[in-house]
Amino acid sequence: MGSQNANSAGRFAPHTEPDGAGSPTIFEADLVRLKVRFPLKRFITLIVTIGALIIAMIAYSAETGLRMSQRYTPLIDAAMEIKLEATTAYLWYEEDTRQDPHANMDLVRKHIDQADWYARAMLEGGANAEGIFIPLDDPELRTSIEDVRRLLAHFRAKMEHPAFDQTENMPQNQSSDHMFETFIKMADGVETRLQNLVQIAEKRFVFVQAVLAVSALAVMSVLGILFVRFADAQNNAVRDLRREIFRRIRMESTLRKQATTDTLTGLMNRRRMTDILQDEVSRATRLNTPFSVVMFDIDHFKQVNDTFGHDVGDVVLKEIAVTVKSRLRQLDAFARWGGEEFMILLRGTDIDGALELSNICCELLAGHDIETVGRVTASFGVASHRPGQTVRDLVRRADEALYQAKNKGRNCVVIAKAD
Ligand code: GH3
Ligand code: MG
Ligand code: MG
Repeated sequence: MGSQNANSAGRFAPHTEPDGAGSPTIFEADLVRLKVRFPLKRFITLIVTIGALIIAMIAYSAETGLRMSQRYTPLIDAAMEIKLEATTAYLWYEEDTRQDPHANMDLVRKHIDQADWYARAMLEGGANAEGIFIPLDDPELRTSIEDVRRLLAHFRAKMEHPAFDQTENMPQNQSSDHMFETFIKMADGVETRLQNLVQIAEKRFVFVQAVLAVSALAVMSVLGILFVRFADAQNNAVRDLRREIFRRIRMESTLRKQATTDTLTGLMNRRRMTDILQDEVSRATRLNTPFSVVMFDIDHFKQVNDTFGHDVGDVVLKEIAVTVKSRLRQLDAFARWGGEEFMILLRGTDIDGALELSNICCELLAGHDIETVGRVTASFGVASHRPGQTVRDLVRRADEALYQAKNKGRNCVVIAKAD
């Protein structure tokens, strides 16, 4: 019978790790890479909300500031214009009364009208090239402006009819100088009151801004603290979860190893070997490739136990396992089948190759000195898989061959029937 591996010295090269159950934990590497997830979406939402709040605040401040300057700047200008126009009118009037040839009463009227226009604009609103005048709503200021207007009317009447000197609220026979002085005082009062109003409005504006800024800061701080706490709690939860997953993976790996490994020799156990044999039968049927099994049993092992004790017997079992394993290839499988019985699966090996390896192992054991005990032999039964054969049939044939080896006198190899 030919074998693809026959007579090759290195075909059963020694190895350290046979096909076994102790594969490394599968997901551990992936889990190490698992990062604590940062709640990015929530963070972005938070930042956008706070950003919108700040922008709204800035817009509100800018708008309020603009409104304030639009409202009050023309009014302050108007108060100054009233004084300016009235003063100019008075100067022209003075010139006129001194018979100045250049004096022009039309100019006096024009400036009084101008002054009155500004006073009315402050009360009722209006617009000219200098700006838009929004009506004042302060009652005290309105009364003062109405007084100013009345005085202007009186001034005009006196100018038109010098004999006329009686106007509502005005003293009798007052001189134009005195009237002008009273008018300037009133106009100054209007201007001062207006400036006070502007100051109050400015203070209120600054106060509102400060309140808004402090509120935004407080909200941001609270949200920030909440966010940090939340992220912290989440990180802790993920960390605990990862620890638990690692623990379970390790436990599962240990359990799997325990379920498939023989604790004394470290070889795979019968259950694991049966699964592997099942897989190998399927593979061999599918691909039509050969494989063989070798079953061996230690000769007179009971005597070893009886003579040297059970512990020494255990040492012998371990040493035999190591010795045989050292002759196997990495692709072979080696198991403790039960008691002092072992099973080898030789992948891609026909009966010739299996016979050769069995003889090597048989001689190796027979020539190997074990401390205290000396030499221990074993009997081997070899069988190769036949098409359509089940695991049970294959093992039975190997077992029968082993039984024959025992009957033949032990320390020998027997090939199964039909091989
Ligand atoms: P044979 O050559 O016919 O196989 O004879 P044997 O004495 O080896 O066979 P037998 O079936 O009579 O005895 C097997 C012994 O192996 C009996 C049992 O106590 C021993 N044995 C089985 N498992 C262990 C073990 O884990 N440790 C030890 N020390 N002995 C074991
Ligand atoms: Mg035995
Ligand atoms: Mg036995």
